[in-house]
Amino acid sequence: MNLARQTEQYLPGQLLELVKDISGQAANHGKTVYLVGGVVRDLLLGCPNFDLDLVVEGDAVKLAQQVAETSQATLLAHHRFGTAKLRYENFTLDLATARKETYARPGALPAVTPGTLEDDLIRRDFSINAMAISLAANDYGELIDPYQGRNDLEHRLIRVLHPKSFSDDATRILRGVCYEQRFGFEFEAQTARLLKRDIPMLDTISGDRIRHELEHIFEENRPELVIKRLGELGVLHRINPSLRGDGWISKKFDTACRLKKPAQLPSLYFCLLIYSLSERDIEQFLTRLNIPAKLSRTMCDTLRLKASLPLLDKPLLKPSEIYYLLREYEPLAVQANAIATASPRVSRTLQVFLTKLRNVRTALNGEELKKLGISPGPQMGKILEVLHRAKLDGEVRTRADEKQLVLSLSLRPER
Ligand code: ATP
Ligand code: MG
Repeated sequence: MNLARQTEQYLPGQLLELVKDISGQAANHGKTVYLVGGVVRDLLLGCPNFDLDLVVEGDAVKLAQQVAETSQATLLAHHRFGTAKLRYENFTLDLATARKETYARPGALPAVTPGTLEDDLIRRDFSINAMAISLAANDYGELIDPYQGRNDLEHRLIRVLHPKSFSDDATRILRGVCYEQRFGFEFEAQTARLLKRDIPMLDTISGDRIRHELEHIFEENRPELVIKRLGELGVLHRINPSLRGDGWISKKFDTACRLKKPAQLPSLYFCLLIYSLSERDIEQFLTRLNIPAKLSRTMCDTLRLKASLPLLDKPLLKPSEIYYLLREYEPLAVQANAIATASPRVSRTLQVFLTKLRNVRTALNGEELKKLGISPGPQMGKILEVLHRAKLDGEVRTRADEKQLVLSLSLRPER
């Protein structure tokens, strides 16, 4: 099958020019370049995807260096892996040396040697990701599809290329579920059986790699579908027996997605994911996934605040009481609790903190207090807090009110 016409229509003009230029330069050295993986799949599906992966049967780093010399691209090369990234103003292109992979044992990183396009396709996760489009002049646009990926796309099926696929690399279990939910596909029957059989192989995968796949899932448009499915399949249970992947988490993810900007969403999803964990479980989870320090703090804060929520479930709390209870927690942990708590009153209180109280500032600061004759030290700290509380509670409004309060406080003898 030839996809020359579809390729020309699918890729933006500028990107098409770049790709053709790279292919031309490779041809000068007798090498062929192919479009591979996600872009071929998405081109056939008609979904936009301009994250291009190119494979060359030959040294990709050398080719990328040549391309970078004759264009505006900046080059990031990984000599060890034979891969290079070319960064242009509006695009990045990944260029890889066609390679052969062998797994010494399940879950190990594969041993990599240069290979043919065929070798490079059989090392891939699913048939729908194991297709290539030739960019060579003599067969430009030709689809190379040794595992009937196009047929699987038509039948909406996710299929591994061989029975050891999930045990070689159990991250493919997470990746497969991600594609299943993103595209509304199904696992082909044998693949579904292998997936269930190999769930215990997740134990062979490093924490960093599992976390990386979860981060990938959290960048999906509908991560809640993926998490729910991972729950049903027992994948979450394998990562930590107390993780929930039920309707509750779907609802909470959905709310999170409507509330937060994309940059903070993945961390918020992590906090919601662990909301049902006990202290012991969270320790296991943080260690198992090698969660970085900052996120780890936010997740622990989320659970610490969850344990303190009863203090907030009272009528007539003063704004200052709310503020001083919550200020020690990471805002994202407060946000996670606002979404996750079963109490509408607590949720409202947490939202008020996030949207209003957190931003309340007094007009006078330490410098100005000094001008009023108060020397820096614990007493000034106390006065600033009293002033801040009064401001939060609406007891002072103007600068003059604040000044008056400060003066009355500084005249009061210290206890
Ligand atoms: P997405 O749209 O999610 O980015 P993608 O297909 O581009 O999909 P990537 O994670 O960017 O996925 O990986 C690029 C390609 O590398 C995949 O299409 C697949 O062929 C291959 N690949 C990635 N991870 C694995 C893996 N664990 N095992 C085998 N092949 C993989
Ligand atoms: Mg990709």
